[in-house]
Amino acid sequence: MTDQLEWIPDWRNTDRIRQLPAIVDELHALDGTRNPSDGPAIHHPPVFGSKAPCDETVTFLLDGREDSHWGGLARLQDVSRLVWDALGPDGQQQHPQPTESSWEAECAWLAPAWLTVVNTMPEVQFKAAQQQINDLYSSAAHAIGLRPPHRIPCPECDSTLVEDGDMLVCTATRWQPFRHEYPGPARMTADWMHAAPLTTQEACEAIPGITERKLRLWRDTHKITPVTQIKSARGRPTQLWRPWDIIALTFPGILESLARKDEEITDCMTAEM
Ligand SMILES: [Zn+2]
Repeated sequence: MTDQLEWIPDWRNTDRIRQLPAIVDELHALDGTRNPSDGPAIHHPPVFGSKAPCDETVTFLLDGREDSHWGGLARLQDVSRLVWDALGPDGQQQHPQPTESSWEAECAWLAPAWLTVVNTMPEVQFKAAQQQINDLYSSAAHAIGLRPPHRIPCPECDSTLVEDGDMLVCTATRWQPFRHEYPGPARMTADWMHAAPLTTQEACEAIPGITERKLRLWRDTHKITPVTQIKSARGRPTQLWRPWDIIALTFPGILESLARKDEEITDCMTAEM
């Protein structure tokens, strides 16, 4: 099941809320371990900074007792209370409170209510609620082994690029009119993995963020080696570069992202066998 759940980045609060019950179900199914008790063990190689799920986290998250004031569900209900106050009388009528106390009921109520208050909630309360959702999401996702994708830095400003459909979009500029965006890993692979060598000028024109100076620096520090040197139309020597070498240096997370997808496919195939 973990393989079917996709990591949701922190700016998609509503989607995180919607996914929480499925993660908690998975946590129940895993019974406190990472591997389903009724299926083959799914091997995940260790990730930097990750820890084995800690029993206390799992106990905390799964504590859904109605009288509990400290479990994961109680924390989510704290968020709901902030949202409820922000809704005002009209909004409260539009979003009647859930009648049962469960992750499913709470999230089904919270997701649409969150969308209603997202632009009107006082900033302090909004930030506190957002933090709580993200904390819950991160610890629950971590406990079932759902990992964030490898970071791909933006070649123009070094912020993180995230996949949005078939594009890679820079998180720092995503809401600005001139956002930094690039084709996603699948498109990049199709376009560039086996593409014919490019001259320095062609590479600078075709690949975002590439300059002659950058290529020269990479060559001088032995990060990249030109395929060969040819004479340009004007008789000047120019170097030919393998495009995929440049892509790998421009978007260092892409190779990891592709390797990770391969590994997930292998995991799925192994699990099905
Ligand atoms: Zn950027």
